[in-house]
Amino acid sequence: MTTELIEKEKTESNNFLEEIIEQDIAAGKNGGRVHTRFPPEPNGYLHVGHATSICLNFGLALKYGGKCNLRFDDTNPVTEDTEYVDSILADVRWLGFEPAGVYYASDYFPRLYEFAVDLIKKGFAYVDDSTAEQIAALKGTPTEPGKPSPYRDRSVEENLDLFERMRKGEFPEGSKTLRAKGDLASSNMIMRDPLLYRIKFAHHHRTGDDWCIYPMYDMAHGQSDSIEHITHSICTMEFIPHRELYDWCIEKLDIFPSKQYEFARRNLSYTIVSKRKLLKLVNENHVRGWDDPRMPTISAMRRRGYTAAAIREWARRVGIAKREILVELSLLEFCVREDLNKIATRSMVVLNPLKVVITNYPADKRELMEMGNNPEDPNAGTRKLPFSNEIWIEQDDFMENPPPKFFRLSPGSLARLKGAYIIQCDEVIKDADGNPTELRCTYFPESRSGSDISGLKPKTTIHWVCANCGIPAEVRLYDRLFTVEDPANDERDFLELINPDSLKVVPNAIAEANLAEAMPGEKYQFLRLGYFTPDPDSKPGKLVFNRTVTLKDAWSKAKG
Ligand code: ATP
Ligand code: MG
Repeated sequence: MTTELIEKEKTESNNFLEEIIEQDIAAGKNGGRVHTRFPPEPNGYLHVGHATSICLNFGLALKYGGKCNLRFDDTNPVTEDTEYVDSILADVRWLGFEPAGVYYASDYFPRLYEFAVDLIKKGFAYVDDSTAEQIAALKGTPTEPGKPSPYRDRSVEENLDLFERMRKGEFPEGSKTLRAKGDLASSNMIMRDPLLYRIKFAHHHRTGDDWCIYPMYDMAHGQSDSIEHITHSICTMEFIPHRELYDWCIEKLDIFPSKQYEFARRNLSYTIVSKRKLLKLVNENHVRGWDDPRMPTISAMRRRGYTAAAIREWARRVGIAKREILVELSLLEFCVREDLNKIATRSMVVLNPLKVVITNYPADKRELMEMGNNPEDPNAGTRKLPFSNEIWIEQDDFMENPPPKFFRLSPGSLARLKGAYIIQCDEVIKDADGNPTELRCTYFPESRSGSDISGLKPKTTIHWVCANCGIPAEVRLYDRLFTVEDPANDERDFLELINPDSLKVVPNAIAEANLAEAMPGEKYQFLRLGYFTPDPDSKPGKLVFNRTVTLKDAWSKAKG
């Protein structure tokens, strides 16, 4: 983590969590120590919602000179996989954060088991033979207290014996659970004898077949926080009802007093942020994989060309709140544009080529036009672009019968070729259907960019690529994956809301020769078209570019 990042975190304004932390530091709580954690369940790839949580937890640690752990919350053997573990670690690091430690809740299984034994010994937990239905039936309602299970008063000895035998695999799945002896009259339903352990004969991605009982969330999360001496355990609002049990377990076990704090989830417009639904998109081939650039996963955003700095800046601007909101996707795109504008190398690519022949330019002549790589960055240097009598321009930049405000090329009109000469269109050659196939133009030798003495004032500047040395490229244009703003809260199934035009492949674009060696990870601005990055599918001789984002926000313009 760079010192620049630390300085930035320190100067930002306070949010309510920062106020809590600052009060704790002032009161000397935990010796003034701040230790947070990011606790993903390795059952999918991280998405943009997780990114806000990562930035929050690591950001707080940075700001207060503390630490932040990455802890895999891998207590559910059925859905978890090492593929996800690897991707999560890579994504956290790519975002710019290095965990103080990488831990696995599953490494704590022996200690969590000891904790459970301790609760039994202290009379705070019991083995219940009731079925899930029986437990539910006795639970009561928010206004009516629950009734005790017939097994609630088993002796400590009997509970210890049964729990050990559960662990040894003597009982079938679903036949017994370990429950806390909570408060059956509590208005918080979670306190009414919550489940702590269940029997599950499942293979775990790390502990294999060592265990056939697994702790429930409430028997694992706070205890893991405590084992790691986490001071501020930050989670999303749906865990508010669990806070009482979190504190209860810590108190009864008499272990390090971690504290839970909640903030509202961040949802992004035109996007789904639920691993379960994202998994469905992948498994049913609605997208090309977890890192399909249309996905809201961190790996997809990376592939698409978003920068970690832009995502961090976005998370900072969104901030945290207690109320769930739908964050505009356009704000994230704005942050991406802002960052890419500073770092992207400028280049010229023509998506839909139309041939221009410059009739008064010698056919055997070549000139090299020098162009800046990035006007925003004086250190970015320049590059040379070959110019010849045949060039490609964008089909959209020509119109035979233009409407009054069409300031591009048309018969008789002038256009500046970016960084080169002014041309005039003299003649349009068309195919049998009347579509233009070639423009015959003349150029003005004294209009060369940088030394223009022509006195001509074309109303437009267009991009171009030399037809004698341009190289072919495939360009993938992405649009929003969903057609509605809030697909997660729509009455229709989210699969029906997929935008059929979310991917457009331009198979035969032509790129300037300087892009021949472009590599994934590099950032480009194709003049007038947007920001682009080579896809991992790209290789020299077969270039493939992803459009990261357009130059301007076409959607907000269209909306209003
Ligand atoms: P999902 O529903 O997508 O599976 P999750 O909350 O179950 O999400 P976890 O792996 O358990 O996923 O989450 C790890 C951390 O990321 C948790 O602390 C969780 O609160 C946080 N998180 C998940 N989604 C969001 C979101 N949309 N906004 C903010 N934080 C989130
Ligand atoms: Mg979860």
